Amino acid sequence: MKMDGEPTLVSLSRKETYCILSFSDDETFELDYLDIRKSCQCAKCKPRQINDQMKIEFGEEISRLMLVKPKVEQVGNYALRFEWPTGCSSGIYSFDHLRMISESSGKKL
Ligand SMILES: [Zn+2]
Repeated sequence: MKMDGEPTLVSLSRKETYCILSFSDDETFELDYLDIRKSCQCAKCKPRQINDQMKIEFGEEISRLMLVKPKVEQVGNYALRFEWPTGCSSGIYSFDHLRMISESSGKKL
């Protein structure tokens, strides 16, 4: 087991409405695409999450969109890019950020 730095993502399995993320420290999480989408850090989505009230409104807006399984591609060795068919297609999610979302919104398996 790696002792320094943050755990990295070692595998991602896409289901219809959620994905399974496995990290290098042997932790595995089930995470809804909705929760990933709500935490997008792109230039368009990030300004909509600056306070709790805005996060709630942003989350409600996203919940109303039809949720479609996103395309996912790896960016270098530190991040994933999720391509959402609605509204946003440039969300880069570092492994650190994915781990943070997993811990706060995901289900530990
Ligand atoms: Zn975005």
